[in-house]
Amino acid sequence: MARYKTKTGACTSCGAEVGTERGRGTEWANVSGRYLRDLDDFVELCILCHRERDRLSRRAKSLVGGAASGPTGAGQRGTPSNE
Ligand SMILES: [Zn+2]
Repeated sequence: MARYKTKTGACTSCGAEVGTERGRGTEWANVSGRYLRDLDDFVELCILCHRERDRLSRRAKSLVGGAASGPTGAGQRGTPSNE
């Protein structure tokens, strides 16, 4: 991607200026998830935003199952009966 677009070192999502150093700086993130060879399909994101985006897109793909577990009513005080 480097020869198509020049990194600015600033995240287009949160605006953090993290530089362009590999492993630390901004990374190209695919917008559509289809990896089109289109410049407009890539945005420059800091690592944190890139991870977050990956996490969200992965979760969106595996929405089935796992969400229905978890303690309900923990720490809730029971309603005292006045009878
Ligand atoms: Zn960011």
